[in-house]
Amino acid sequence: MRFDAITLFPELFDAWPKHGVTRRAFDQGLIELHRWQLRDFAADAYRRVDDRPFGGGPGMVLLAEPLLRALAAVRAARGDAAPVLLFSPAGQRLDQALVRELAGGAGAVLLCGRYEGVDQRVIDRHVTLEVSLGDYVLSGGELPALVLLDAIARLQPGVLTPGSAEHDSFADGLLEGPQYSRPERLEAEPGGAPAEVPAVLLSGHHAELARWRREQALALTARRRPDLIAAARAAGRLDAADERWLRTLAL
Ligand code: SAM
Repeated sequence: MRFDAITLFPELFDAWPKHGVTRRAFDQGLIELHRWQLRDFAADAYRRVDDRPFGGGPGMVLLAEPLLRALAAVRAARGDAAPVLLFSPAGQRLDQALVRELAGGAGAVLLCGRYEGVDQRVIDRHVTLEVSLGDYVLSGGELPALVLLDAIARLQPGVLTPGSAEHDSFADGLLEGPQYSRPERLEAEPGGAPAEVPAVLLSGHHAELARWRREQALALTARRRPDLIAAARAAGRLDAADERWLRTLAL
């Protein structure tokens, strides 16, 4: 799966492929990341790629022509019709469903905005989808591109321990419940009580453990993200035992 990032700061992509579990996606050639310096497509000796917006207003806009030349070069290098994603606060909110969809494709061209954004005509002609990380404003599209790449890389076969992604939050539409590790008992802090690991986790009863995990996930999701419970119900992913448990919760 090939990704091409068009950016003013290609160095921002240097560290991430070398670290953590997602490094395996690169070492195994499951993901290829090509970085394109937008300034290489400028027309003048100053390598200028931005200018003031027509109609006035603060800040600068990324010029259409260098972007068009960069996109043409990427297209020629790829030789396919991969989607062009532009990172933008006005885009579709990135979620696990979109990550899964993109993880099943052949990759994408990642257009990283800077300054006040990108000349609209480039978006109109070439952008397949605008993607937002959330309702806040960042300085550039590089961090959103890395977030998307990370989420896609961990879904590639062989990157995570088998079965691990299926237990993560959003895999089945719910948040993942709490996790515990050693020691079984944390000694009390002054004025407090010791903290024990829930007994079911040490019991060895697989069916009870599975039910407990499901109930914890349902409880956490119902408290923090009732919208996800409503979506799971509408999609028929809650069974009678889930509904009984949800009715017992004081929300
Ligand atoms: N003037 C733009 C606006 O108000 O929507 C913000 C531009 S921002 C300073 C510069 C670039 O950062 C954007 O072009 C985009 O590529 C990226 N960016 C900023 N916030 C983002 C977000 N929430 N999601 C995705 N990309 C974002």
